[in-house]
Amino acid sequence: MDGKQVWAELLEGNRRFVRGERRAYDFAARRTALLAGQKCRTTVLTCSDSRVVPEFIFDTNLGDLFDVETAGNVVDEIGLGTIEYGVEHLATPLLLLLGHTRCGAVTACCREGGHAHGHLQSIMDRLEPVAARTHRDIDAAIPENLRQTKREILERSEVVRKLVAEGRLEIVTALYRLETGAVEPVE
Ligand SMILES: [Zn+2]
Repeated sequence: MDGKQVWAELLEGNRRFVRGERRAYDFAARRTALLAGQKCRTTVLTCSDSRVVPEFIFDTNLGDLFDVETAGNVVDEIGLGTIEYGVEHLATPLLLLLGHTRCGAVTACCREGGHAHGHLQSIMDRLEPVAARTHRDIDAAIPENLRQTKREILERSEVVRKLVAEGRLEIVTALYRLETGAVEPVE
């Protein structure tokens, strides 16, 4: 299965989630089957927000998604390393960058001028150029943050660049709407 097919399958799962028709997975059986190792097909970078749970949103099973979660779905060295583990070692053909509406991190950055206490500042530092570029318009900053994250991953990760160039990795940017449960691609 290539990245486009994996993405189509995830969107199918999201449609089930929106309709409230989630599959009844047998977690016990799957847990046992996965003892030999994980064979997931998607690496996903998303926000830590408790309302954004990729396994629920895409109606997937245990062992399907390799998740990287940070506030505001920004990446640092450890995030990049985790993404590289997913796309190279686990060879997932899809890297999904998933943002969401009403993101608290992006909202805080837009409203508070990129200032925060403690280690939260490191997240604001990532988001501030996006907030400034979109004139602190939250609805514009959220998709722009996804585009920025994609550019950053491609710029900084030779592993990701190589896999994309070889046609072995598809990167998709998408927005999750808290209001409806639907996921839509972001260009
Ligand atoms: Zn968020």
